[in-house]
Amino acid sequence: VAEGAVSKVAIVLDFGGTQLRAAVIDRDGQILHREAVATKNQAGPAVVVGQMADISTRMIALCDVREIAGVGLCSPGPLDIGQGLIVHAPTIRDFTNVPVVRMLEEHLGRKVLLEGDAIAAACGEWKFGAGRGVDNIVYMTVSTGLGGGVISDGRVLYGARGLAGHIGHMKIFADGERCGCGNPGCWEAYASATNFTKRARVALGEDISAKEVFAGAKTGDVRAQELVDQQADYLGIGMVSCLHLFNPERIIIGGGMSNALDQLMPGIMKRINADAMPAFRDVEILRAGLGDNSGLLGTAQLVFSRIA
Ligand SMILES: [Zn+2]
Repeated sequence: VAEGAVSKVAIVLDFGGTQLRAAVIDRDGQILHREAVATKNQAGPAVVVGQMADISTRMIALCDVREIAGVGLCSPGPLDIGQGLIVHAPTIRDFTNVPVVRMLEEHLGRKVLLEGDAIAAACGEWKFGAGRGVDNIVYMTVSTGLGGGVISDGRVLYGARGLAGHIGHMKIFADGERCGCGNPGCWEAYASATNFTKRARVALGEDISAKEVFAGAKTGDVRAQELVDQQADYLGIGMVSCLHLFNPERIIIGGGMSNALDQLMPGIMKRINADAMPAFRDVEILRAGLGDNSGLLGTAQLVFSRIA
């Protein structure tokens, strides 16, 4: 086998309810090609998996096939990694028990690796983003939901079924708001961007957006600031448990809410300093460094480490 012609690139897909992103990425984390299309999220699994196959095929066509280490897909879940199933993708129509790995493998004639989107993003930030250089990270994405992935002692934490790090479903109130998972009181039911916006609309009117609340707080609007403080406190409450569970060096925050991290930090730190045991408080809280590419880069990393 000629040197330099083997396993140099990964073909990766990041499947989301709004966008389907794809890229060709090398071992150094260089994105050689990238494409994004709107997910046909109302068209049903066959059409959506067809989109995945098409975009993969276009990426593969841009490469020397001898250089391709493998194909990886990260997806919202829950997933059944062992069975290659998307058990349920709530924002995509009819996406229940979809055998996405088998369907894609049939289209592509290649092995496909499936990974949870939050674990993939955690891995991407660890290797190439805000988590570089440390071995203990809690990554959290705060957007529609609240997802998480954990790097512990320099390893990706998977758990028995690849489901470790579902921090959004930690219960933070005994009889609280109903979460999308069905349980009351989950962290996600308080600290996700969706629930922040919901509280803002109750307090300030039906038309307000999260962005407007943060902008209002910046210009001294007291009611907007109260909403920001409340949100920061909810974030802090869950982070305290993450500190006690995983003792991370860094907590890295991605998703839309991370754009307002500077405004949230005082409230987050107030809660951490009040509730975390002193030995656990020494943590850096950073905004994710890779933007929309953390899932793609992390999936590439996982392809190289698990297939190649
Ligand atoms: Zn839940």
